Amino acid sequence: MRASVIQSIGTRVSVSPRYSLVLPIYNEEQVLPRLVERIRSLICRLDGEAEAIFVDDGSHDGSVHYLRRVVTAEPRFRLIELSRNFGHQIAITAGMDAAAGDAVIVMDADLQDPPEVVLELVAKWKEGFEIVYARRVKREGESWFKRFSANLFYRLLEKMTPINIPRDVGDFRLVGRQALDVFKHMPEHDRFVRGMFGWMGFRQAAVPFERPPRTIGQTKYPFWKMLHLAVHAIVSFSEKPLHFALWAGLAISGLALALGAYAVFAWIFERGVIAGWTSTVVIVSLLCGINLFMTGVVGLYVGSIHAEVKRRPLYVVDRLTGFDEAVGAVAGENRRSLRKPRSGVAPSVPTLRQL
Ligand code: UDP
Ligand code: MG
Repeated sequence: MRASVIQSIGTRVSVSPRYSLVLPIYNEEQVLPRLVERIRSLICRLDGEAEAIFVDDGSHDGSVHYLRRVVTAEPRFRLIELSRNFGHQIAITAGMDAAAGDAVIVMDADLQDPPEVVLELVAKWKEGFEIVYARRVKREGESWFKRFSANLFYRLLEKMTPINIPRDVGDFRLVGRQALDVFKHMPEHDRFVRGMFGWMGFRQAAVPFERPPRTIGQTKYPFWKMLHLAVHAIVSFSEKPLHFALWAGLAISGLALALGAYAVFAWIFERGVIAGWTSTVVIVSLLCGINLFMTGVVGLYVGSIHAEVKRRPLYVVDRLTGFDEAVGAVAGENRRSLRKPRSGVAPSVPTLRQL
């Protein structure tokens, strides 16, 4: 834990925020007035300077207009507008890149991550834990299918990776500056943020909380998006599917060899040569299916490499509000610190430092 840093930027001397709240927003117009109120009262209860960074992830409702108004009027609020919808994990990344606090707290905008729990995360951080995540002990208002599939996914992931990725934990967490700096050096495109913090190590702790249902608006994570996230999580944290493809391929080749030997044997001794049509069709289609599946598995990894080698930025910033200096974001290896916050707060990392 570090104390707030006093820094001089040009002629201005200002105090860096102790806490940065990062809130990804995607079409959350309906919940925003309530969210803003709750964030204001949370900031008042925190024991140091705080800023709230809203990241608009290409919303096409009135979210941006509302946020621009609020952020312009409130010196502790900032807004990053991404140029399109880049997805939740990238929106979080953009917010964290811009955060200047000693502790950065990421939370959903729909109030399913109750702002009051942040105080408990902070208390744990002060005990010396670098990463404090909120663990869902009760998930209200979620369908049995979502709970079942989430459970299955976490069990599967646990088996597939040696990295400790805690169960029932989303992206609601507090991270200290040290962990944040490591995160900013991680340029990968396949981002499964909770796994990245799991990979990092450091002293980590959990704070249990009961996750309320979403009361306003709809989930922005339909089934296909969840599935996409799950597949990317596995591809970026485990090579087991590749091993599986290899061993299954070998086993099936062995089986095919044995069947071939049998076919030759049957042909030589004229046993059941004609009556083999059904089994042939079954075996050929099975092998084709497995082959395609294996190719698909390998394809996922090739796709992931493809995304990395292009070295495109992780996200593109369209507009910044609440920061003194607007700086386009360049991601990947050259991800820069987005910010130079407006008066009252100064970054605790050098502005425009190339990471
Ligand atoms: N979100 C985002 N980009 C997306 C999808 C979601 O920034 O492409 C935000 C969304 O506005 C919310 C958070 O990510 O603040 C979590 O989304 P949601 O509450 O819909 O997920 P769920 O709680 O249903 O898993
Ligand atoms: Mg939600």
